[in-house]
Amino acid sequence: MSRIQSEKLFEKAKGLIPGGVNSPVRAYQSVGLTPPFIQKAFGSRIIDADGNSYIDYVGSWGPMILGHAHPEVVQAVREAVAEGTSFGAPTGREVELAQMICEAVSSVEMVRMVNSGTEAVMSAIRLARGFTGRDKILKFEGCYHGHADGLLVKAGSGALTTGVPDSAGVPRDYARNTLTAAYNHCEALEERFKSSGAELAAVIIEPVAGNMGVVPPKMEFLQLLRELTCRYGVVLIFDEVITGFRMAYGGAQEFFGIRPDISVFGKIIGGGLPVGAYGGRKEIMAMVSPVGPVYQAGTLSGNPVAVAAGIKTLQILKRDPSIYEELAAKAGKLAGAFREAARKYAVPLSVNQIGSVLTAFFTDMEVTDYPAATGSDTVRFAKYFGAMLDYGIYIAPSQFEALFVSAAHSGEDIIKTEEGIMAAFARL
Ligand SMILES: *Cc1c(COP(=O)(O)O)cnc(C)c1O
Repeated sequence: MSRIQSEKLFEKAKGLIPGGVNSPVRAYQSVGLTPPFIQKAFGSRIIDADGNSYIDYVGSWGPMILGHAHPEVVQAVREAVAEGTSFGAPTGREVELAQMICEAVSSVEMVRMVNSGTEAVMSAIRLARGFTGRDKILKFEGCYHGHADGLLVKAGSGALTTGVPDSAGVPRDYARNTLTAAYNHCEALEERFKSSGAELAAVIIEPVAGNMGVVPPKMEFLQLLRELTCRYGVVLIFDEVITGFRMAYGGAQEFFGIRPDISVFGKIIGGGLPVGAYGGRKEIMAMVSPVGPVYQAGTLSGNPVAVAAGIKTLQILKRDPSIYEELAAKAGKLAGAFREAARKYAVPLSVNQIGSVLTAFFTDMEVTDYPAATGSDTVRFAKYFGAMLDYGIYIAPSQFEALFVSAAHSGEDIIKTEEGIMAAFARL
């Protein structure tokens, strides 16, 4: 498979853009390869600058649940774009998308549109602080919530009481307000609340962790979290940027039957255009400017083109009640193929799949938390990744990401992928 054009583009890009990319993981650093530069994509297929065609399981990291360039979404965008791309004024379309989100997600009574998941999380946290009058927040090890200062913090063994920033440029004083706890550990969570519950403005969680690879929550862990946040008057924020409209039409909260106070969305609700949103109970959302004292604004927020793509995407998801079962069935087949290949070639592997997302971790440990995930063999992952790419299967270039199954993946795509998995594992 020739990638000459991609190599040329990458060389040029590296002189102009840090690392040659506009988001770090795209640089393929952890797998030691040149990233394919993408020319176009249709349905389940993504095509690079050299004309190589791959079955795509990145799906733009989550938004493309219907596959690429869905004809109805393309049409909706065309219509919107022809009517002007931005007004900086309210439009009917954004009211329609707000209504669709509120109807889909029962804990969300009001919603504010922004331009990315990062921005939505940042705003939700400011809102929780404004609402409670407290400063500290709690996040879980291995959960990603975008790149806002206070969230680039994870727990190291020495960081149990005060956050240590993962990134240069984050003031220590700022990170100090971010506490961390272990994902899926009930006792540790109870301890955390005993010592710090009364100081917390918010707890933020990915209800299904997707950014340390897929790690489903233990039901009792989510229930305990709801119970403790209620007891201590802490705002519970579900970061549904991946899970919203993916685990179910009503998100992970519908799937697990747990109501957060604030929900954060992104990815799918923009149908592949830049969008984010945060919402919750009226009483909390009434704190947001211009009604309340928590300031938040955006020149392009509620952008008519992005909102048109989001509305159409949600309409398609809503009208097809079998879509989520079909997605889960396809993902289940892939999970089965991974397990079979691991058995056949005696490769230590632990597969987590829930709904349309899955991760095959190169470890023999059951992966229920961050230490187990990071115990995976990333060298072996890199080898497997290269083999998959050469077979024409495009997955995220990191052990700690999900495969995203879309409605556009055909039975044939799944079979070809199963064959690719088998071929890749034969080379490990
Ligand atoms: C992608 C992601 C974000 C950040 O969204 P951006 O649009 O990339 O800023 C936040 N939270 C979760 C769970 C995500 O997966």
